[in-house]
Amino acid sequence: MPADLRRLLAHARPHARTLIVGGVLTLAGSGAGLAMPVMAKYAVQAFAESRSPAPALLLLTAVVLAGAALTASGTYLMSRTGEAVVLGARERLVGRMLRLTVAAVDRLTPGDLLTRATSDTTLLRTVLSRSLVESASGALTLVGTVVLMGVMDLVLLGVTLLVLALIAAALALLMPRIRRAQTQAQEAVGDMGSALDRALQSFRTVKANGAEGRERSAVTAAARRAHDKGLTVARWTSASDVAMLVSVQVAFLCVLGVGGARVASGALDLSSLIAFLLYLFYLVAPLGQLTEGWVGLNSGLAAVARLAEIEDLPGEQPRQGADARESAGPVPVAFTDVVFRYADERAPAHDGVTFDAPAGGLTALVGPSGAGKSTVFALLERFYDHDAGTVTVGGRDIRDWPLAHLRATLGYVEQDAPVLAGTLRDNLLYAAPDATDDDVRDVVARTRLDDLVARLPEGLDTPVGHRGVLLSGGERQRVAIARALLRRPALLLLDEVTANLDAVNEQHLRAVVRELAIRTTVLVIAHRLSTVVDADRIVVLEDGRVRAQGSHAELLEQDPLYAELAATQFVAASTR
Ligand code: ATP
Repeated sequence: MPADLRRLLAHARPHARTLIVGGVLTLAGSGAGLAMPVMAKYAVQAFAESRSPAPALLLLTAVVLAGAALTASGTYLMSRTGEAVVLGARERLVGRMLRLTVAAVDRLTPGDLLTRATSDTTLLRTVLSRSLVESASGALTLVGTVVLMGVMDLVLLGVTLLVLALIAAALALLMPRIRRAQTQAQEAVGDMGSALDRALQSFRTVKANGAEGRERSAVTAAARRAHDKGLTVARWTSASDVAMLVSVQVAFLCVLGVGGARVASGALDLSSLIAFLLYLFYLVAPLGQLTEGWVGLNSGLAAVARLAEIEDLPGEQPRQGADARESAGPVPVAFTDVVFRYADERAPAHDGVTFDAPAGGLTALVGPSGAGKSTVFALLERFYDHDAGTVTVGGRDIRDWPLAHLRATLGYVEQDAPVLAGTLRDNLLYAAPDATDDDVRDVVARTRLDDLVARLPEGLDTPVGHRGVLLSGGERQRVAIARALLRRPALLLLDEVTANLDAVNEQHLRAVVRELAIRTTVLVIAHRLSTVVDADRIVVLEDGRVRAQGSHAELLEQDPLYAELAATQFVAASTR
């Protein structure tokens, strides 16, 4: 069985019983439909023979009602299963997505992930609630009709089957094309999601650069691709419909010819030929159902393949033993000959990095853009695994730390968008949902956010806007620091804001960082002169290597690159 079909059935397996009951009810409903002409015939006969038609009419009514009830409950059960499968697939997929490794997500685009979780999962519903039943009922009716035709006359059946074999061949040719176009259409919808997501994520940049038109073209190009592929599907589907109708007509002519000859020779009576021809026309409906079911099934398989791509990506181990609020003392960090590449074909981002940051105190990482500073943080958080060398935290190899424990020990303050939507309080409690009001008050004071809280209309309960747009850059960073502190990290990783801060914010940030370094190990990617001046130790990175270490004064004297950075790159406080 093809892998995609196996996966599709795996989605349906937990609901197999409901699905089967629903399918049987729906089929029984259609069966009741088939019985109606017979009942009608009895009613007419009763009239003709001047008997009371009441029993036949009553029976007819009962069959109609029963048929309707069966169809309705069958359809409901099937749709319910469809919904349950969609929910199950979404729950699994979202759980899986949030567990993916950072490296895996780097290669994907958020918009594409979004369409997989929303539109591709929706396709499963149609497949399970409609296409499967359609295919099954089409196949059953087809088999039934063919059997009845065989009962009428085997020779004519042989002629019919020969012609039908032609349809099967045509469909076998067309189906892979339909399937390919369907997959491409779904991919195009994913691309559209990515393009739209990109434009909305950088909304201000788009506007500021007058790029609305270009972004629109990028999004609509993907939409157009989806449309074109949809048309391809429609073309091939109508081709298959035509092939089917033409084959049935051809079969009709052949049967008429061969059957006529057989009637003439007395091998077949006329009424059987007529009945046979009628059955031949009955074939059109189940054949149509089969192809439609088949097309639906293919789109479901394409969706399942896209969902499976996510499930097959590398994920992180589930969190175990996570205590979000470990309160260990400050821990030392050491990198020894660390080598790391983001991708095999890329130059190493770390090419033998060696440095250590003692427990407690402030260690600053500096270096030109692309030197590998952020990579130090990414490796410590184990967003990626280094290729060679060792990284230790608290004297223990980070590969030996349970992931959840390691991350609970670290506080990570990113440079960009470190604030999520919600209220200020939501943001602070993000890392430590069970922190007490006292804890919150304490970190708010330590990060000099009390003025801000006092100024906000609803204090801590003021919403901060999507990505914290209502806060200044310096405030956003201090909120992120406060959040990290609530976790009581033994090691704080701080990527400083590069933006110029006003004098007050600059002073606050400096004081906060200096105080922090008393109780925790602080590793900071320094962009500010004030930070390097305060640092206990500065590590200068260049091209994935450590080129010098020391204090600000020492490095100014000994390292020309550092002297140049100090002169040109560090953001000096606006008060200086
Ligand atoms: P900056 O100060 O500009 O942020 P940095 O010193 O922090 O620079 P890193 O972000 O560590 O530098 O990057 C080191 C190298 O790794 C760069 O050449 C960069 O292009 C590459 N790199 C960084 N992140 C990724 C990633 N997710 N995938 C692939 N390559 C990356």
